[in-house]
Amino acid sequence: MAARVIDGKQVAAAMRAEIKEEVAKLKQKGILPGLGVILVGDDPASRSYVTAKEKTCEEIGIYSDDNRLPAETSQKQLMALVEKMNKDPKIHGILVQLPLPKHLNEAEILLAIDPDKDVDGFHPMNVGRMVVGEKGFLPCTPHGVIQLLIRSGVTIEGANVVIVGRSNIVGKPLANMLIQKKPNRNATVTICHTRTKDLAHQTRQADIVIAAAGRPNTITVDMIKEAAVVIDVGVNRVEDATKKKGYRLVGDVDFERVKEKASFITPVPGGVGPMTITMLLYNTVESAKRAAGIETKG
Ligand code: NAP
Repeated sequence: MAARVIDGKQVAAAMRAEIKEEVAKLKQKGILPGLGVILVGDDPASRSYVTAKEKTCEEIGIYSDDNRLPAETSQKQLMALVEKMNKDPKIHGILVQLPLPKHLNEAEILLAIDPDKDVDGFHPMNVGRMVVGEKGFLPCTPHGVIQLLIRSGVTIEGANVVIVGRSNIVGKPLANMLIQKKPNRNATVTICHTRTKDLAHQTRQADIVIAAAGRPNTITVDMIKEAAVVIDVGVNRVEDATKKKGYRLVGDVDFERVKEKASFITPVPGGVGPMTITMLLYNTVESAKRAAGIETKG
């Protein structure tokens, strides 16, 4: 039986509509959620992410303070801007687009962001809050994966989940979120990486396979069990002479074959990708509510 293809664009649009409604209610109370965006340099991929973030803020009604700085910006100048945003009551979330140019100390900048405005959820304070199950900011891509599963009707509780990838932005936080003793979590999680002895043996045990390796065809059809749920976080460029740009985007999963065996699958593009920005705006609105002393979802 062919899998149900999870439409990330549709799920993201539904969530954005909910966020927009929430923003409208906050505005009636005189609260305008604000996101401060910092882009240093002119990396084309970063520029297009930042433009998409700004556009989505506008659609949803979130105030966005956009700062596009030249590649030669110094550490001191960048730190000063972060400090200014930390103090600015109009800003509830600060986003420093990564990667930063090589001469800048990324770790120092991320540590300088007020943890209560760290809507990316990368500050060690929020990582700690996530691990112990306290309210903070959940990192956007892993949180987006969990929302996709829940909103597609996939049961996470008690499921065997195998995550391929252990990065600080996807694999590790996702595993931590899934093992929490909370409704819609309570999964049994295995994390795999390049030193895993027999990856296929692990993935074949999984009710839910989440691929975040950054390598095409990491998950092939023989590596999943019948009716598994397959979430593909990977985004990889592969050469394609038929495309204007000379490449196309693929995930980590052999989509065409795996979809014939899985029960649910996400495509690339159009799966996890659209959820990431949505979760960033979700965090920004949660932050604005917290700053105003309004009860938040966590
Ligand atoms: P990363 O930092 O490069 O981490 C990749 C992880 O996968 C590492 O832990 C690595 O193991 C593991 N890995 C790589 N090849 C493997 C293999 N053949 N077998 C088992 N494990 C393997 O990447 P990332 O930042 O987590 O991103 C992962 C992918 O998700 C990338 O394609 C990225 O573009 C994509 N992504 C998408 C979004 C989105 O919004 N859709 C957001 C973030 C990332 P080791 O630790 O042993 O090296």
